[in-house]
Amino acid sequence: MIEMTNVSKIYQTGKIASKALDQISLTISQGEYVLLTGRSGSGKSTLLNILSGVDHLTEGSVRINQQEITSLNEEELSSWRGKELGIIFQFFQLIPTLSVMENLLLPMDLVNTVAKDQRERKAMELLKLVGLSEHRDKLPNALSGGEQQRVAIARALANDASILLADEPTGNLDSANAESIFELL
Ligand code: ADP
Ligand code: MG
Repeated sequence: MIEMTNVSKIYQTGKIASKALDQISLTISQGEYVLLTGRSGSGKSTLLNILSGVDHLTEGSVRINQQEITSLNEEELSSWRGKELGIIFQFFQLIPTLSVMENLLLPMDLVNTVAKDQRERKAMELLKLVGLSEHRDKLPNALSGGEQQRVAIARALANDASILLADEPTGNLDSANAESIFELL
């Protein structure tokens, strides 16, 4: 499902070049649950950002579900990403001015994979799945960190993406909440 071959990434800041990834090859099959660990600065976020096409590699190849993503332009990438990937962030990145329900509807409205009259029903199913259906009309700020991350997971599932990427999804949670987020994932 995911195949990275000899991927290198060099960040160039002025005259200073720093190699964040050095010839990384990696294969991940459908159904696998993979944890990537390493000290701060070892390149975990860089690798995820290259997998999601948010950042560009310097060298190598990334194939996801048979698609060579380095050959897509920015516009193709963003529509590909909206359909194929669910992304979960350390700081949740919910839209603060939208309700929980509206946050879940947003990715479906952007990508158009779910029929318009089915979106709210689908969002409610996802909220049930993460145990938050009674919070549908609240703003994210009115929820605890653990609850916000549950909303973010529901949002990442909204378009039936085949791949879920999460960058330190429990990095901002206490250990009890972190445990329950791992169980949910
Ligand atoms: P991790 O997520 O494992 O903490 P990162 O992927 O964020 O590590 O960073 C890997 C290395 O790349 C670090 O040395 C970091 O300083 C460098 N780096 C990350 N992003 C940039 C950037 N935009 N410009 C320059 N260097 C960067
Ligand atoms: Mg990181």
